[in-house]
Amino acid sequence: MEIKLLEKSEDNAKFLVQGIDFSFANLIRRSIMDEVPVMAIDEVTFHKNSSALYDEIIAHRLGLLPLSTDLKSYEVKEKCKCDGKGCARCQLNLVLQAKGPCTVYAENIKSKDPKVKPVQPNMPIIKLLKGQQLQFEATASLGYGRDHVKYSPGLVFYRQVADVKLKGDADRDKLNKICPQNILVLAGSKLKVSDNLKCDMCLACADISKEIEITPKEDEFIFEVESWGQLDPKAMVLAGLESFKSKLKEMDKQLSRLQECQSGQMRMAKDHLA
Ligand SMILES: [Zn+2]
Repeated sequence: MEIKLLEKSEDNAKFLVQGIDFSFANLIRRSIMDEVPVMAIDEVTFHKNSSALYDEIIAHRLGLLPLSTDLKSYEVKEKCKCDGKGCARCQLNLVLQAKGPCTVYAENIKSKDPKVKPVQPNMPIIKLLKGQQLQFEATASLGYGRDHVKYSPGLVFYRQVADVKLKGDADRDKLNKICPQNILVLAGSKLKVSDNLKCDMCLACADISKEIEITPKEDEFIFEVESWGQLDPKAMVLAGLESFKSKLKEMDKQLSRLQECQSGQMRMAKDHLA
């Protein structure tokens, strides 16, 4: 397997993976989206709410706020030494006190840990009219995207790399102009494919000419990772692959146990027959 980074920014990454099949590509996608823990608000205790919205609606909005995540300082509740009861290692308190008239934004929520706070400070939570008050205490914890989408670190998707084959030059002038990605370029009098990684297989070229053949490569995939801000794309990919690695280790352990168990049973059966 070979991996090549194609593009990278604060919230996005694009990379090429060669030498894998569809099921493995989907495994990478699901490992990142569902198995990388991120922080999200899980419980809210309302002390005052004289706003126009019910407690449940505000709590739902709070749950969906992306919170910056520090995977080194926090542990998922089910793996924490406190056995999921809740401690400083697995949960964090956030508070809000607001009085109208005002718009309450995500940045108004005060976190006890400066490393864990709303990623988008300007995200509006609610509008309070004159005299309306909102006071709550919220608890955030790490969770997995497989349990609730609020714990998903972002979006991961992939597509197959296109194999672009030019069979002849007869339609070169038509083909040169039709590609929306401009990958069919003229080099002198010859038509060439400049970058097949950019081909999104729209087949606009194949529709107008029989001189070109586009087929998807079975073992090459371009992945795109879009972070929702809790973790950067690199941390998402590394944590996803680490999660897969630990599952393989666990499976290996279980298989070894099963083998030991089976060989023990066979020994017992042989002794019995003897
Ligand atoms: Zn704990």
